[in-house]
Amino acid sequence: MLKYYQNLHTHSTYCDGKDSVEGMIQSAIAQGFDSVGFSGHSYMYYAPDHSMSLAGTEEYIKEVHAMKEKYKDKIDIFCGLEFDMYSTDIDFSRYEYMIGTAHYLLIDGKQVGFDRTAPVVAGIINDYFGGDGMKYAKMYYETLAQLPNFGKFDILGHADLICKFSEKENFFDESDPTYQKYAKDAIDALTGKIPIFEVNTGAISRGYRTTPYPSPFLLKHFKERGWNATISSDCHDARFLKQSFDSSAELLKAAGFREIYVLKKDGFKAIPLD
Ligand SMILES: [Zn+2]
Ligand SMILES: [Zn+2]
Repeated sequence: MLKYYQNLHTHSTYCDGKDSVEGMIQSAIAQGFDSVGFSGHSYMYYAPDHSMSLAGTEEYIKEVHAMKEKYKDKIDIFCGLEFDMYSTDIDFSRYEYMIGTAHYLLIDGKQVGFDRTAPVVAGIINDYFGGDGMKYAKMYYETLAQLPNFGKFDILGHADLICKFSEKENFFDESDPTYQKYAKDAIDALTGKIPIFEVNTGAISRGYRTTPYPSPFLLKHFKERGWNATISSDCHDARFLKQSFDSSAELLKAAGFREIYVLKKDGFKAIPLD
């Protein structure tokens, strides 16, 4: 059991989530959450099906703030954004927190989306990396390391997102020291620039993985580099809002963490894990 349940990585029907903002809030209350933060996908002209439109973004901000007021006696609500690195037309000042992420590789001037299905990833590795999954991993981490050039973020989202299919498909070997160096170098490049990383359980509820990201070796590396942790379910379906929160806390403890960070009205605060 955690002392405080908050999910800051939450989608809704404004982007690719299944539930309305209010439906998600009601479900959060029913599941005993103390707080929920919305993080719709930032507008991506290259991915209209996965992101909020510009007009939808305005509605989203308005609705989350209206709900914050409506439910203020029941649950704390925050208005954030899951910013994709190549998003344009985003005013950071309109959000209470920002999650920085990379879901695309920029190849020949085109955004290539790898956060899809295993066959899509296999095709990308084949088409752009000569079938070499390690080269794909290298480009992903080099891309991720550039995040601070695109804005100031509170949370690094799903740091090793390319491992979404790693439990079932062998696109690259996560235990290979070369792979681990790519990942650690990216974290080192981001250290001191983004304060918090997330343990993200979203791939569990969607049946891709049985454990959250990041991988245990990366959890330890985050700890060694002094990062703070938060737990999120990257929720696209209210039924899974609390997916594996408690087991994620155990993984964090095993990696040496003694607290998680949650967003309160006066900023991010540590909550002890014991
Ligand atoms: Zn994402
Ligand atoms: Zn997300």
